[in-house]
Amino acid sequence: MVGTDTVGNVMAVAKRTFDVVVVGAGGAGMRAALQLAQAGLKVAVLSKVFPTRSHTVAAQGGIAASLGNVSEDNWLWHMYDTVKGSDYLGDQDAIEFMCRSAPEVVIELEHFGMPFDRLDSGKIYQRPFGGHMQDFGKVPVQRACAAADRTGHALLHTLYQQNVKANTHFFIEWMALDLIRDQDGDVLGVSALEIETGEVMNFHARSTLFATGGAGRIFQSSTNAFINTGDGLGMAARAGIPLEDMEFYQFHPTGVYGAGVLITEGVRGEGGYLVNKDGERFMPKYAPTAKDLASRDVVSRAMTIEINEGRGCGKHGDYVMLKLDHLGDDVIKQRLPGIREIALKFAHVDPAKSPIPVVPTAHYMMGGIPTNFHGQVVAPNKQGVEAVVNGLYAVGECACVSVHGANRLGCNSLLDLIVFGREAGRQIVADLKVNTVLKPLPADCDDRPLSRLARLEGQKNGERVPEVGEAMRRSMQKHCGVFRFPELLEQGVSKIYEIAERVKHTETADKSKIFNTARIEALELDNLIEVAQATMTAAAARKESRGAHARDDFQERDDENWLKHSLYYSAERKLEYKPVKLKPLTVESFPLKARVY
Ligand SMILES: Cc1cc2nc3c(=O)[nH]c(=O)nc-3n(C[C@H](O)[C@H](O)[C@H](O)COP(=O)(O)OP(=O)(O)OC[C@H]3O[C@@H](n4cnc5c(N)ncnc54)[C@H](O)[C@@H]3O)c2cc1C
Repeated sequence: MVGTDTVGNVMAVAKRTFDVVVVGAGGAGMRAALQLAQAGLKVAVLSKVFPTRSHTVAAQGGIAASLGNVSEDNWLWHMYDTVKGSDYLGDQDAIEFMCRSAPEVVIELEHFGMPFDRLDSGKIYQRPFGGHMQDFGKVPVQRACAAADRTGHALLHTLYQQNVKANTHFFIEWMALDLIRDQDGDVLGVSALEIETGEVMNFHARSTLFATGGAGRIFQSSTNAFINTGDGLGMAARAGIPLEDMEFYQFHPTGVYGAGVLITEGVRGEGGYLVNKDGERFMPKYAPTAKDLASRDVVSRAMTIEINEGRGCGKHGDYVMLKLDHLGDDVIKQRLPGIREIALKFAHVDPAKSPIPVVPTAHYMMGGIPTNFHGQVVAPNKQGVEAVVNGLYAVGECACVSVHGANRLGCNSLLDLIVFGREAGRQIVADLKVNTVLKPLPADCDDRPLSRLARLEGQKNGERVPEVGEAMRRSMQKHCGVFRFPELLEQGVSKIYEIAERVKHTETADKSKIFNTARIEALELDNLIEVAQATMTAAAARKESRGAHARDDFQERDDENWLKHSLYYSAERKLEYKPVKLKPLTVESFPLKARVY
């Protein structure tokens, strides 16, 4: 392939060929890669950071599966909780598939060597988690399989070791820039940049799988890592693929006030609870049955109401307290050692003695690249008919299957990674048996990535990336938060579109190629702004309240008009809608009900 560099010299872009290129080495990417490598395929896994530094490593609380090791459980109850938790926007075929597979994939992880906590009987320890209940919503159940409060750490290291054993090819500190799609719309790989050297290379493959994680960095206050910049979504959007249900962004109830670092819901699972400035335990007022273990959107809204009505703590009354001193030093040290460290380091309190100041913090993207439950990307084709995009798959937080609908339950994301990572791997193996021919790369495949790089290098007196990024994060936080107000949403849309214009003119002060992190941040901003525009546009358009999307002017769920998924098209900034799949695979559909906890 031939392109031109910034001064117009013709420049060859090197190429490597694989059966499958996986972008992302978090739980989703590594579970899929393992399936593929074990099937004997030649697999490249690209990651911006060392695999075990992916955000999955930060997951604390657990992975949901109805093993029933502590209290009686059933996958159908798990399915009911997930459908209800999604505020009925989740696709029930995919939810059935996930909840049914959960016990099997967790046991499989155990056999890969994952060091779960144990009960005295030797079985995997399970703790309660928000929204997970027994017997169709009656009382909380113990469903979250945990490795102390470092479950993601244990999971990611286990999967990395298994991949090394299976001979997966890792490309570490490589950033995928853009998707390669030919005239038929088929996907043939990605272009990518080696962060250390600044060299661009094409990864040519019959299958491409995106597992690039979330985009929490569109917000100012987020529990997400700095690398969670929605790159997969940006690449998909630039290649003409719509983004689904982007208005639904989850705010986790307990981010450390001022720092954003997450305090797992597992703290409430172990018996911790929230109090306001009067020391009142307020959750029973809002959720009489599940109390502090209600679904996350419910708890975040309750906290925001307490704060807005003047019952917040501190000088500015802008946070509440998470109390766990009554659990005792032993439980805290054994079950929540990481939380103890976080509280000491980021809130300067010893949780065995004093409560932790917390606020709702941006946490999880329910929307993403639209897929079916085999991980295949589905989007309307040129004739407007929904069809599989040949060669493209997506799993994990960057995908919208949709199992989380309008609100995700805690511990269902790690489960989503493992269930759909494995399933996408299985599907790719099957598809490659049929698709045996590798089509050539299209002649113009370097144009988009090289022109993005050329813009950063060639721009004079351009916009500064940190300033534009800050403007975007501030706007998202103010205009698209826990509660959403009509005027703020409208203003937010125009602000974000203005910021998107500024992004087109960004430059980096440092023009060098070698380990230029400023350049990486600029490229990430191209992706973040795609996600921010999709989120803001879809939020302003949805005139109802459902799950994480809570509007001040339309406070009720409106199934008659809004029981549908949104699809946002970046090029035209256009929204379309498609129906929710209410029919499960083998069981009866769960009928729509008011959602109370
Ligand atoms: C603090 C925290 C705690 C959590 N706790 C829990 C929990 O207890 N239970 C639960 O179920 N869920 C939890 N979640 C949610 C869950 O951890 C995430 O949704 C999940 O780990 C995402 O996994 P992933 O594989 O999709 O992406 P990630 O783990 O985020 O990995 C993304 C990968 O993509 C790579 N990448 C991204 N862009 C590019 C690019 N352009 N080029 C190359 N590589 C790229 C990155 O380098 C990385 O390897 C938590 C989330 C957070 C933030």
